[in-house]
Amino acid sequence: MNKELPLIPYPQYAAVHDGIFNIPGRSIPFLSDSFYEKDKPVSCSILNAAGLACFPSVEKSFSESIEIRSEQTSGPYSLENPESYSLEITTGKITVTASSVAGAFYGVQTLRQLVMTYENALPCLFIYDKPAYEWRGFLLDTSRSFYSVDFIKKIIDISAFHKMNRFHWHLTDDQGWRLPVPEYPLLTKTGSKRWDRNMPAREPAETETRREYYTDDEITSVVQYAAERHITIVPEVELPGHASALLAAYPEFGCTGGPYKVESCWGIFPDVLCAGNDAIFDIYNAIFDTLTRLFPGKWIHIGGDECLADRWKTCPKCQARIKKGELDNTAQLQSWVTEKMAALVLAHGRIPIGWDEVLDNTEKKPLPESVIVQSWRGTEGGKKAAELKHNVIMSPQTMCYMNLQNYDSIEEPGRLGFITAKKAYSYSPVPENLSAEYAPYILGGEGALWSEELPSSRVAEYLLFPRFSALAECLWLPEEKKDFLRFVHNWDDHKKRLTEMHVLYYDGKLE
Ligand SMILES: [Zn+2]
Repeated sequence: MNKELPLIPYPQYAAVHDGIFNIPGRSIPFLSDSFYEKDKPVSCSILNAAGLACFPSVEKSFSESIEIRSEQTSGPYSLENPESYSLEITTGKITVTASSVAGAFYGVQTLRQLVMTYENALPCLFIYDKPAYEWRGFLLDTSRSFYSVDFIKKIIDISAFHKMNRFHWHLTDDQGWRLPVPEYPLLTKTGSKRWDRNMPAREPAETETRREYYTDDEITSVVQYAAERHITIVPEVELPGHASALLAAYPEFGCTGGPYKVESCWGIFPDVLCAGNDAIFDIYNAIFDTLTRLFPGKWIHIGGDECLADRWKTCPKCQARIKKGELDNTAQLQSWVTEKMAALVLAHGRIPIGWDEVLDNTEKKPLPESVIVQSWRGTEGGKKAAELKHNVIMSPQTMCYMNLQNYDSIEEPGRLGFITAKKAYSYSPVPENLSAEYAPYILGGEGALWSEELPSSRVAEYLLFPRFSALAECLWLPEEKKDFLRFVHNWDDHKKRLTEMHVLYYDGKLE
């Protein structure tokens, strides 16, 4: 037996011992319930979420059993980190130990991978494990391509399988508004509809009738599904740019008054929210009300990327705002809007997150301290933000964007270049040139799938893997414990597991 285990992400510490635990099918008798949520035992639901059936056992009535134990330990195998766990397999017993339900959940996810690979005969072993980073996320763009709730849940389950803990749900953009806001019904009625040039086979009549936004019930079911997998959803609503869908629905929020259209092409568009119109805060207040009602997580992402100032330059209201707000120039209007919107998010009891452009032109209106910066234009924005003591999520497009090709070949789907699995695996969230004192501000990282040209969820999966798996390991393991050759070796077993989960993956060269 190979002494290295076929796990992705690889655990922080693993030792394989002699002996085998015989597991009857994928159904395990379990001993005692240590973990409760809302007074209900959760051991079985943790096992069920990992595809393992279980049934309560009276001690010693079965020769093999599993126990999920709650324990606070310190020392070399400290379980103080709520996401840490230990997993011990002996010939008669599997023991998962953790200090919180999240840790127990990750221990069982490791067991899930072992059961999928070893089937009925698990090797005896001891694993101690904990994440290197607290923010391990993945962004799915559901605006450029509208994905089904089933696909979103599939991605969430796959995320949990890789011990990721954030799902960043990109809900609005120029090409479609996917979030129903009761006070502003046209956002979805008008803003979700476009003639999609990627689907020429679809008849205009079908576009008229097909719903391309998520209902409250669907969103609630996704939130619940994610919570059961210890994943927090971070909803994103773009502002002040990438606003075409909103403006098509409510043209009064643009500088020119429209008319505007829900874009069917890709790019950066000049029509953005009018920074001189106070009513933009009314509509976003209602949008944040909706987000707060539907998403219990701590964070709301307010976009902030790629906002052109063209319209602001010639808009009398925007120019009046510059004078009234004592700003030096038109470009600073974005920092003025960001400050107000961030305050609105905070007033809703949530923490705002913005793309790294929120740091630009902030001479007069510094970025509010509470805003978490997500660095996508390389690592410089993240470095600058950390040095200003903002918390940071690192998503440099050259490492973390999975809509790029898996390999430099005209045969491969994807756009805007390529990132091999080897390059993806070399990613480290903390920029090399960041001094150690600011490193704690780097919360972790996120992969992203921008869905221009990706109407098929199967092609989306193909682009994600193996780079999603590589990223998960980069966010779970500290740099010194990463090993690309081990990852390549384990990828062979991981592919079989992904196949069992009906996930499509790229199977070509990794470097
Ligand atoms: Zn304006």
